[in-house]
Amino acid sequence: MQIKTIGVLTSGGDAPGMNAAIRSVVRTAIYRGMNVKGIVNGYEGLFNKEVIDMTDRSVSDIIHRGGTVLGTARSEKFKTKEGVKEAAQCCRELGIDGIVVIGGDGSFRGARDLSLEGIPCVGIPGTIDNDIASTEYTIGFDTAMNTACEMTDRLRDTAQSHHRCSVVEVMGRHAGYLAYEVGTAVGATAILVPEIEYDLQKDVIDRMNAAKEDGKKHFIIVVAENLCDTNALSKEIEEKTGVETRPTILGHIQRGGNPTVRDRVMATKMGFYAVELLKDGIGNRVVAYKNGEILNYDIYEALNMKKTLNADDLHIAHRVSR
Ligand code: ADP
Repeated sequence: MQIKTIGVLTSGGDAPGMNAAIRSVVRTAIYRGMNVKGIVNGYEGLFNKEVIDMTDRSVSDIIHRGGTVLGTARSEKFKTKEGVKEAAQCCRELGIDGIVVIGGDGSFRGARDLSLEGIPCVGIPGTIDNDIASTEYTIGFDTAMNTACEMTDRLRDTAQSHHRCSVVEVMGRHAGYLAYEVGTAVGATAILVPEIEYDLQKDVIDRMNAAKEDGKKHFIIVVAENLCDTNALSKEIEEKTGVETRPTILGHIQRGGNPTVRDRVMATKMGFYAVELLKDGIGNRVVAYKNGEILNYDIYEALNMKKTLNADDLHIAHRVSR
């Protein structure tokens, strides 16, 4: 199948680097002689037929910007069979032959469904959580790690001055990749993640008390979101250690900001690669990064892959934090 016009959309949570990916998709497609339509607000934009005819100039000055210039949304309608059929029909009416979908696992499920309805789709992993099993790296992760690290360094300054413990909740949805990286980078006394069981007394309280006896006066505990009630955890730590403890939930501050070099470069490469696949009508694929290489997988296969945090890495981080 020869693709004449491709669509590009961003879906699910925004991530820094999505704009660099849009730019790469648009310019690669134009370079390959195709037309490109930017679909506004994820799959919702298909139903509303909200599209923008993209030119090389439409993506000027966005490589360095966080968020997504196309907008993103969560579409409940698209999750239904009828919704996908309607979306495929909208694509035909709009003259869109294939779509590059930039998003997470949820967005990839949508891309698979749309591919099965005759509109070939290629997914690009974009999420700050790095929680997509088929790839070692997702666009936005590097920026979010660095932002959360910088914010936690600031909390350390105040924790150090007041001899306090700072409990910092970082994002990750249901994964601990961000928490692990940030916790290691800030030298957290304990890093609590959903993948690895922990014992509050042994892994947090006893460790803090031992360091306290050795003269340590301030502490950082990093917790992945959705793991526990961070405010309650903070209270319990204060009660059990006698160290004044303050919780901070970093929240959406981790999502925004200018993408790092790594995110921009990865987005540029993945965007190029996705269009190279799609131009020949190859759909139902996702782009992935593994062992230093950019690859692609069948979406169904990719969604069934598993990955997890390396317990040894967490062990190292804890071993050197005293
Ligand atoms: P992410 O892509 O970051 O995982 P979501 O899980 O919110 O984010 O998914 C984004 C969008 O993808 C949803 O709003 C919906 O339109 C579509 N989507 C999610 N799950 C499915 C599914 N099981 N089937 C079809 N479409 C889905």
